Amino acid sequence: MDFSALGLPAPLLQAIKEQGYDQPFPIQQKAIPAILAGQDILGIARTGSGKTASFVLPLLQQFQKKPAARNRFIKALVLVPTRELALQVANVFHDFSAHLTRRVKTLAVFGGVSINPQMMALSGTEVLVATPGRLLDLVDSNALQLSEVEVLVLDEADKMLNLGFEEEMNRIFALLPSKRQNLLFSATLAEDIQTIKEKLLRDPLVVSV
Ligand code: AMP
Repeated sequence: MDFSALGLPAPLLQAIKEQGYDQPFPIQQKAIPAILAGQDILGIARTGSGKTASFVLPLLQQFQKKPAARNRFIKALVLVPTRELALQVANVFHDFSAHLTRRVKTLAVFGGVSINPQMMALSGTEVLVATPGRLLDLVDSNALQLSEVEVLVLDEADKMLNLGFEEEMNRIFALLPSKRQNLLFSATLAEDIQTIKEKLLRDPLVVSV
């Protein structure tokens, strides 16, 4: 199968080619068309499976039809367990955006560094990649609003739970609008991931790779 069979537009196909991707990995073949169609996803996938591109590409495509977000009302939230993953995922958004005419401002925020530069950088951000604690600090400082989030991605959800972020995650879920698309990625399908699945996902496509 070729990337062009997945319903992605030419500017994204061009960027995919420049990244040196030849063929879509299995998770990309299954998840990309479903995410484009608005479906919820449970992806049981490890690092190395190509899970990041499987949500970044369709999210960028979805934005091509959207009007610009109101300032500080982010449209997509990607929750990640660590600073390293936040930076890595934001980079993938940047790399695949190279040829898009409808730009999508993506920002990574995480704890352990000062919050003020992140508050300033939030202006105009539509996709926020965040660790849970720092996200809540920013919300509590009124630096951003979650009430217009249309897509929630939980990346490495098992690791987020293992690091003790459950309470923060639940607080965040409660701040999101109830009508939204949910994409849940985890390396394992442990009991606590099942619980999140039952709570968050509506009729999901389950992809295990
Ligand atoms: P991930 O599982 O998202 O962390 O991706 C693992 C690695 O595979 C990253 O270095 C990606 O750039 C690379 N990758 C993802 N999808 C493809 C693909 N379809 N073809 C070649 N490399 C890929």
